[in-house]
Amino acid sequence: MSAEGNSAVGEHGVSKRAKAANRKPVKPEKPAEPAKPVNSPRAAKAAKPAKPAKAAESAKPAKPAKAAESAKPAKPAKAAESAKPAKPESRLAMVRRARRINRELAEVFPYAHPELDFRNPFELLVATVLSAQTTDLRVNQTTPALFAKYPTPEDLAAAVPEEVEELIRPTGFFRAKTKSIMGLAAALRDDFGGEVPGRLEDLVKLPGVGRKTAFVVLGNAFGVPGITVDTHFMRLVRRWRWTESDDPVKIEAEVATIFPKSEWTMLSHRVIFHGRRICHARKPACGACPITHLCPSYGEGETDPEKARKLLKYEMGGFPGQRLDPPPGYPGRPAPPLGASDD
Ligand code: SF4
Repeated sequence: MSAEGNSAVGEHGVSKRAKAANRKPVKPEKPAEPAKPVNSPRAAKAAKPAKPAKAAESAKPAKPAKAAESAKPAKPAKAAESAKPAKPESRLAMVRRARRINRELAEVFPYAHPELDFRNPFELLVATVLSAQTTDLRVNQTTPALFAKYPTPEDLAAAVPEEVEELIRPTGFFRAKTKSIMGLAAALRDDFGGEVPGRLEDLVKLPGVGRKTAFVVLGNAFGVPGITVDTHFMRLVRRWRWTESDDPVKIEAEVATIFPKSEWTMLSHRVIFHGRRICHARKPACGACPITHLCPSYGEGETDPEKARKLLKYEMGGFPGQRLDPPPGYPGRPAPPLGASDD
């Protein structure tokens, strides 16, 4: 079980930011507010409750029977018309809103970081490959033993596959992952002098390494700006209407046009942090979200502040984080090692 499954809502370990996040956005009496700048059909509906009342008022005149007949169909139609999205959000407005979301998330998560433990590019590369179909927490709990036994690409390339399989078994798909990490270790040894290359075109040639993995490594081990389009990033940018696409490569290209290159890596961390802690796939914690006023999808999740708070994860909910060795400044508790009671 991951840290996410811990059901007790601990108070200690809740960061100031977490508290702030819980406090600020919770304005249930203003659900219509976020819709204004964003052109949300749902919010637009909620924002126009006055029209039917007006229709009913103006339907009163003189001949009741006739008025009732003629007024009923006419006015609601007018109200429905005006409830339609007046104007689609312009590109400029969307870009401004997107940049504001990034700025506000930077305030909420000033400590956003990659959530895989690593000490060098090789460890980050292997950990990122292992993170497919599992949590970063599970990978972090698994890699210390792996890297203790095989600290370099040469060591891993020369390993006995069954022994590697046993070590990485907790991450799932361990046979395929063993092939990938041993294959990439051999390629690093044979083609790159035992070093992880710092170029996208070289990284994506390694077995098991796609653009997402390559950008994680480039952004976090080499300081090369990159947008990491993982499942959280895809879900959130669509909720925020930054794109309509569900193709990771197109999403990456579209988001790249919204933000300056210098923001790409940190933007990715912030969005992923928000997706993991607050804006979850099935039940986004809208009632505890700090950016409701910028989100056209407000209301897709739990809007009750109390209930929403209980959905928050990791340091936002007072739980341990994903890293056993979090970077300085992380306000939460470190994750427990594999098999520890908190796991
Ligand atoms: S969907 Fe809800 S939780 Fe997600 S960003 Fe919008 S308001 Fe926040």
